[in-house]
Amino acid sequence: MKTLRILLLASGLLASLPIALPAAAQEGDEALRSWRASAVVTAADVERFGIDACFSIGEIDDATFARMQGRSYKAECPLPRSDLRYVKVLHVDAEGRIRLGELVCHRCVARDLVEIFRRLYDVRYPIERMVLIDDYDADDGASMRADNSSAFNFRYIQHSRSLSKHSLGTAVDINPLYNPYVRRVGGRTVVDPPEAAPYVDRTRDFPYKIERDDPCCREFLRHGFTWGGDWKSLKDYQHFEKALPDR
Ligand SMILES: [Zn+2]
Repeated sequence: MKTLRILLLASGLLASLPIALPAAAQEGDEALRSWRASAVVTAADVERFGIDACFSIGEIDDATFARMQGRSYKAECPLPRSDLRYVKVLHVDAEGRIRLGELVCHRCVARDLVEIFRRLYDVRYPIERMVLIDDYDADDGASMRADNSSAFNFRYIQHSRSLSKHSLGTAVDINPLYNPYVRRVGGRTVVDPPEAAPYVDRTRDFPYKIERDDPCCREFLRHGFTWGGDWKSLKDYQHFEKALPDR
């Protein structure tokens, strides 16, 4: 009799669950609905929202384009807005929290990125932050210092006048604070961002380090990207890029 009462009580509680969501769950639902990038959500929030809706590709809507204009999308950018895509993904940080991520990339790599980040989410590969670089005024240094992972940004390669693959939206930087750009210039070592100097020594162990045989590197390579950590003339450990298909 007692068991029956407990069962009835439990089923009653379950039935009333949708209207009795705690405030934290409502907050998670709202973060997912409005896709507040960098917000933390729970596995239960994700389950209610639907995991597939958390990994999606969309056009650049007016609100997103307004965020980008004059920042990552500069006046001289020759790439039409219709060639770019807004990608939503989930990622897990080093503390194991589920976070909302967003990226702008070229339409030709959008499917790759959704597949790559879905896999990295499934294996709990740690990525600290993923918001549009426009939140840092498209300042690569500020975005890297915040350890922000990003893709499209109309800009030149560091210390050169050539356009970066980020200008096409076919390059992605992952956990940049711990995976710096390293180059010898005139007998001295240039590290970008300079705050990443402690992470130039790749024999050391630290969180968010990208390595040749880790899931991040493996997934990008499997999708036809090259890794800046494999380059000989310089190292760009955060950087993955893919060539556009011939037209
Ligand atoms: Zn890069």
